[in-house]
Amino acid sequence: MKDYYEILGVSRDATADDLKKAFRKLAMRYHPDRNPGNKEAEDKFKEINEAYSCLNDSQKRAHYDRFGTSEGMGAGYGPFTTGAGFGDIFEEVFGDFFGNFGGTRRQRPARGSDLRYDLDISLSEAVFGTEKTLDFPKWESCRDCRGNGSAPGKSPETCPSCKGTGSIRFQQGFFSVSRSCSKCQGAGKIITHPCKKCKGMGKIQEQKSISLKIPAGVDTGSRLKISGEGEPGEYGGPYGDLYVILNIESHPFFKREGTEIFCEVPVSFPQAALGTEIEVPTIDGTAAKLKIPPGTQSGKLFTIKGQGAPRVGSHQRGNQIVRIYLEVPTKLTSRQKELLEEFASINGDEVTKSFKEKLKDLFTGVES
Ligand SMILES: [Zn+2]
Ligand SMILES: [Zn+2]
Repeated sequence: MKDYYEILGVSRDATADDLKKAFRKLAMRYHPDRNPGNKEAEDKFKEINEAYSCLNDSQKRAHYDRFGTSEGMGAGYGPFTTGAGFGDIFEEVFGDFFGNFGGTRRQRPARGSDLRYDLDISLSEAVFGTEKTLDFPKWESCRDCRGNGSAPGKSPETCPSCKGTGSIRFQQGFFSVSRSCSKCQGAGKIITHPCKKCKGMGKIQEQKSISLKIPAGVDTGSRLKISGEGEPGEYGGPYGDLYVILNIESHPFFKREGTEIFCEVPVSFPQAALGTEIEVPTIDGTAAKLKIPPGTQSGKLFTIKGQGAPRVGSHQRGNQIVRIYLEVPTKLTSRQKELLEEFASINGDEVTKSFKEKLKDLFTGVES
């Protein structure tokens, strides 16, 4: 007959605390994680587990003291036959010491998930900043039951299947293997009196309305974080965060690139040839005057200073870039036609002439 007191190195009148200390010390020394492949340590580890699981149970201890054995204490006893006894003891004594040894520990406060909200805003809202209201359905921790899912005054009960651990252990060779408890879905607790408001879920879906300040200068892909507006945490854990991902809608007239805003403005041939002053729309809704010097070619770029977009956190705006293009009239009055024909007769083929000259230089030696 094994002497459990001797195995643990304690006296016959050892208290529960003495037992726990002794077991902890020995189990740490002989733990298989620390003695890989050591058969002797393995056997010793089994032995101290067996001793502790007997002496730690006052009923079993009394029986053992009286009969010198723990057999006959009813079915299910024995740390390495059901696995349950071992795991319970282990967790009770060690807590977090070995991390997740023997199974997943449940019911730890866990932070809620982050949420993503995609928001479209206009280009001028992006340039000048704006305030938006986000409306969306969102899970909130139930206030009636403070998120635990039980009716007021009631508490969830420890799952009888897994004894609250959330996992069922079984023996596979020497090692204790665990799987998630099917009765409580791994929660370790069972709600016997569900909260009426949330039907035991501990959370309820609410229509949420959040007002959001969008700073000037944001761009497509900009990410705004709203702390604590994500999903509620589990078991009293903190809320996750809400991330608002911005998309700037395309504008029919302006195109933005970083801090620059581009646009294209048409001028007529006489305007381009003689020079003029035109009005160019800007993103803030006003019109900027732009001088077109005589002889301006199609495609020429002009800069209007300070009419672009700022960077987030800066008041200084980039520039607006204006591309001039020549618009050729498609309908001419007979008078216009007359004048153009006259112009052409004087000077009209000068362009094509000089172009031909250029080509000649390029392709000299080639038979035409
Ligand atoms: Zn369970
Ligand atoms: Zn509730």
